[in-house]
Amino acid sequence: MIITEQKEFQEILHSLEGHESVFLIGCGICATTWGTGGEKETREMAARLTEAGKECSGWIVTEEATCDARTTRRSLKRNKEQVEPADALLVLSCGAGVQTVASLVEDIPTYPALNTLFLARIQNLSVCDERCRLCGACILAETAAICPVTLCPKGLMNGPCGGYEDGKCEVDRERDCAWVAIYERMEALGQREQFMVIHEPKDWREDRHPGFINKRAEKALG
Ligand code: SF4
Ligand code: SF4
Repeated sequence: MIITEQKEFQEILHSLEGHESVFLIGCGICATTWGTGGEKETREMAARLTEAGKECSGWIVTEEATCDARTTRRSLKRNKEQVEPADALLVLSCGAGVQTVASLVEDIPTYPALNTLFLARIQNLSVCDERCRLCGACILAETAAICPVTLCPKGLMNGPCGGYEDGKCEVDRERDCAWVAIYERMEALGQREQFMVIHEPKDWREDRHPGFINKRAEKALG
């Protein structure tokens, strides 16, 4: 899940300076689950903006993820009577969702209400932890399904480094050393010999940005 946090209200107001009428768009998937841009938060944001002197022409929460242009296009079309009078759109989703809305509504400026933080495992509705840095060449098959690229602050491909102590990381003693965790899991799975495998340096050319995929074109090329 993509983790987001709400921006300071003053920053949002600053973005909206010079705009009188705002239409708000929340995200039906990640920001709803994480409580940053679901129905409750979008409604509350609309109320705060109204209190701050803005006119809210309306709000929606997209039926799916806001970054899904197919369903967001549909949601915006269905609400076009409220979208069109607005002179600004405020999106409570990750940055991909904000840009999806901006690409669908080219004639109204679009602004983010959230900061996009990381890709995480949700432990419960108040605790999540980053689990993947989207490196483009997953090595979890070799690391007992624990990601050192994300969980080791040095991103070591062969660890642990000399600084770990009592299973904790030298960079942050509150956190478990990723490589100790990998070793312990391998041992528990009866795969300890895998720990002796030396991993090649990571090929960061696989970490391509901006990412782009066209499955149909790839299929046509065979
Ligand atoms: S190895 Fe790369 S793709 Fe796999 S979990 Fe780690 S960062 Fe994500
Ligand atoms: S102690 Fe472990 S997690 Fe921390 S930097 Fe060293 S190898 Fe990485």
